[in-house]
Amino acid sequence: MSTEVRILEPGKIEVPAGRIRFLVLPGQDIFARRAGRFRILSGSHALGDYLGFLALLADAQQKALDQFPALTLPGPDEQALCREHGMPLLSSKSWPRNPAWHSGLRMVLQQMAEAALPAAASETVAGLMHASQTVLEEMADRILAGELADISPGELPFVAAALQVYWVRMAGSLGEDAFGRLQESGLCPVCGSYPSVGIVSAGTNQGLRYLSCSLCSSQWHMVRIKCSNCESTEGINFYTAEGSKENVKVECCSKCNVYLKLLYLEKDPQMDPIADDLATLALDMIMDKEGKSRKGPNLFFHPGV
Ligand SMILES: [Zn+2]
Ligand SMILES: [Zn+2]
Repeated sequence: MSTEVRILEPGKIEVPAGRIRFLVLPGQDIFARRAGRFRILSGSHALGDYLGFLALLADAQQKALDQFPALTLPGPDEQALCREHGMPLLSSKSWPRNPAWHSGLRMVLQQMAEAALPAAASETVAGLMHASQTVLEEMADRILAGELADISPGELPFVAAALQVYWVRMAGSLGEDAFGRLQESGLCPVCGSYPSVGIVSAGTNQGLRYLSCSLCSSQWHMVRIKCSNCESTEGINFYTAEGSKENVKVECCSKCNVYLKLLYLEKDPQMDPIADDLATLALDMIMDKEGKSRKGPNLFFHPGV
């Protein structure tokens, strides 16, 4: 690991906040693009088998998203109330989930049942097909509360995948104007989840930092060199892995000891917040050894594995 000299000051390198696009909702082809990224990464990676499995799962998510049933969504009054109080409109903790997400899960499972999976994964798929609604809701509650260790490692990716499809469908069905800023700027303005990673944009938003939601894949702007957890602008350090292309860096706060990975799209525009996070687990292991922790989960990484 190498430490970087800080050359930018917080907030001073960017255009004024009023002219920055605050929220970017997930595109409706997001899972197809993610599947492609998982495939590229799986080719020469130590976790290639798992990344290849997640490529199939992302394909199944895309099919489920494409066929997802119509949903009732919060109307203008509720939207205005949440904006006024700085609350997430589609809160992962308190939004009453529509049982339609079970249909989404079944669509994902049906796709995966047709794939050539290892025997254990096929058994898990068959078991989840027959899981009761109560069991599924309990699993969803735990996953959305961040208690991933309480879910079996085999079941986690399938149920998490279905929850992502449901939230992406809801987020993508409402325009950006439906959502306001939250009091806690490190949480997703759409669903209130922690970000999986941050992204430093290329192209029209060159150099701007967006945080990427671990659940609904929405991205929201946050100035650079500011801790996404405690919002400190002091004591922020950057690390890269020795010999890396420097396309992924770790931003670590010495005040709260929380770190966040940053994907630099100008170095590699194909990077994906979920896929490239998993492909750089080695960085997490290094930070863990240093006594640092991350707030945002990757729902496809079971903490007990
Ligand atoms: Zn979200
Ligand atoms: Zn901090």
